[in-house]
Amino acid sequence: MKQFVILGGGYGGTAVIHELFKGHIPSDVQVTLVDRLPFHSLKTEYYALAAGTVSDYELRVPFPNYSGLQIKYGEVSSIDLSHRLIHFQQGDPLEYDQLVIALGCTDNYHQIPGAEEHSYGIQSFSAVREAYLQLNNVKPYGKVNVIGGGLSGVEIAAELRESRPDLNISIIDRGSRVLGGFPPKVSGYVTKWFEEHEVATLSNISTTKLENGVIYHADGEIASDVTIWTAGIQPPALVQNLAVEKDRQGRVLLNAYYQIPDYPEVFVCGDCASLPFAPSAQVAEGQGQQIAQIASSLWRGEEPKLQRLKLKGTLGSLGKKAGFGLMGKAQVTGRVPRILKTGVLWLSKFHIG
Ligand SMILES: Cc1cc2nc3c(=O)[nH]c(=O)nc-3n(C[C@H](O)[C@H](O)[C@H](O)COP(=O)(O)OP(=O)(O)OC[C@H]3O[C@@H](n4cnc5c(N)ncnc54)[C@H](O)[C@@H]3O)c2cc1C
Repeated sequence: MKQFVILGGGYGGTAVIHELFKGHIPSDVQVTLVDRLPFHSLKTEYYALAAGTVSDYELRVPFPNYSGLQIKYGEVSSIDLSHRLIHFQQGDPLEYDQLVIALGCTDNYHQIPGAEEHSYGIQSFSAVREAYLQLNNVKPYGKVNVIGGGLSGVEIAAELRESRPDLNISIIDRGSRVLGGFPPKVSGYVTKWFEEHEVATLSNISTTKLENGVIYHADGEIASDVTIWTAGIQPPALVQNLAVEKDRQGRVLLNAYYQIPDYPEVFVCGDCASLPFAPSAQVAEGQGQQIAQIASSLWRGEEPKLQRLKLKGTLGSLGKKAGFGLMGKAQVTGRVPRILKTGVLWLSKFHIG
């Protein structure tokens, strides 16, 4: 049997599986999913788990259950591209003939001293559980700082405000406004929401060092009971360690079929892949479907035909009642984008759409 192995059952990996099993899988191909977790986790909602407004259980979705799909649980420790082997923290290595690397991302601390040791990240399920514990154990009126005012930093600060009205919450960003990647109108709406809900937005502050209870920056220091890190992501170390070409963010450079040029049997999907889009669940899913279509064409001995990835937009939440986003060229703020975001989550949870 030829082994088609998918590393990571997140948005990208599960999209590959659903699309593969929609079509015909040759009888001599065994598809295997590998993940450290026994379920797909809804990462786009991690901010709510960290803030304590949804339960752990609500963010778990069973992995696809197709007859013929094999699932292996384990912590991948390295990938040996030359010998086509996956190594695990424990147990025997796994051989592959074709591979999809869809392992998501980890925090990027930009080599800031103490950042990793003295902040809590929200990029993995276990990290977000830890963040939940810390945030919800902060003493009344304690100080929480969120470093990084992008989408996930904004969502967690807003959700935490609803969860803990007593806390002193700040978002610290080195840019001149929160949501620097969004148009000023959307950013202005979000800043106003934070003003009205007494969340401080501290701009033009570059963090230089973190120590226990203190955030240092060029002009002084900020006291912090709990610091949340949302100031950048990068592929996991085991992907960065691959001796292949990568972009400045450490994401793997790929050919037009999302293969590593020197290893065409290896596809890279989602946050690990160097793509002309910001990393997102939407991109990972769209790319995952295309990887399955490419693999199917190659199995049939046909030239893959690809359409440009079409993205529908980005939606963010400000607690449970307000939101913001971009839908094509339209900028949306208020209750409607929040309702749409709930709808997108529901579709994603039940794999519709
Ligand atoms: C708070 C927050 C809000 C977000 N909101 C949005 C949004 O509104 N819209 C949007 O499009 N995107 C959003 N994103 C981004 C989105 O979640 C990611 O871009 C998306 O999850 C990437 O998909 P992926 O398949 O590459 O990786 P993931 O979905 O992260 O999946 C990676 C999988 O690999 C597994 N894994 C990782 N390492 C190992 C290992 N060593 N061994 C075994 N298994 C491993 C993990 O368990 C996981 O199942 C948000 C992210 C965050 C943190």
